[in-house]
Amino acid sequence: MKDMTGKIALITGSTKGIGRAIAEAFVKAGADVIVNGRNATEVEKVRTEMGAKYGVAADLSSGEGCNSLIEQVDKIGPVEILINNTGIFGVKDFFESTDEEWENYFQLNVMSAVRLNRQFMKGMLERNSGSVINIASEAGFKPLPQMIHYSVSKTALISLSRGLAEITKGTAVTVNSLLPGPTWTDGVEKYFAGLAEEEGKDMQEVISSYFDDHEPTSLIKRFVDVKEVADATLFLATNKAVNGSALRVEGGIIRSL
Ligand code: NAD
Repeated sequence: MKDMTGKIALITGSTKGIGRAIAEAFVKAGADVIVNGRNATEVEKVRTEMGAKYGVAADLSSGEGCNSLIEQVDKIGPVEILINNTGIFGVKDFFESTDEEWENYFQLNVMSAVRLNRQFMKGMLERNSGSVINIASEAGFKPLPQMIHYSVSKTALISLSRGLAEITKGTAVTVNSLLPGPTWTDGVEKYFAGLAEEEGKDMQEVISSYFDDHEPTSLIKRFVDVKEVADATLFLATNKAVNGSALRVEGGIIRSL
């Protein structure tokens, strides 16, 4: 494993789930990790538990919230690794989804990454050093009918990542997106509660037949582990030949070459 001693790594939405596993992996690799979540008490608790150096509470679902995070992080030092992980997802019938819900998905899932890249990626280019990883989803490549608003937000994030990578041409900065498949987290548990309600089934039943009913192309036929996603972020942050990619950690669900 590459040594990341002294490198500041900001992982958004890192008090739980995939973000937390990524933060833990970067702490182990020696990075000066900044944990982020909405609740200051929770951020401090998680920061202490994993031995991360910094914690910054900020709600990234608005411009003001992102500015608050930027102000606090700028006092810490230059961000060398930016992982835009925070995101919401849930089942919603397309015909019942409101403009406001679409707007909320875009604010957190897309605009938080736009705003943080505008600030921190700019600094990386000025220093000619750094890595950005935007956590998208296989749903951004293969939209899920039960959550089209979410899928579209992740497609936008994949496109944003590739566009930003173009700006890095000839520099030592990289920008990649990472596409996890179904990964067992608190967030996914809530998603399954919503799916069970929509299908009028028991949640356990929906979970056990999920790969046959909803993701039949999965080659691994199991949930991805958060540590498997975290491993892939370490790879993306350290291999400088990988730039502009949309790395799939989805167990082969996307059936294409
Ligand atoms: P989760 O709901 O378990 O955790 C989300 C984290 O984000 C928490 O730490 C939460 O505190 C934080 N968060 C939520 N809203 C926030 C806000 N407004 N401001 C700051 N922080 C906020 O989610 P997860 O399953 O770990 O998913 C993490 C990312 O991975 C998301 O972007 C999600 O779309 C993506 N993803 C997840 C899966 C999956 O199956 N779990 C699959 C593909 C992609």
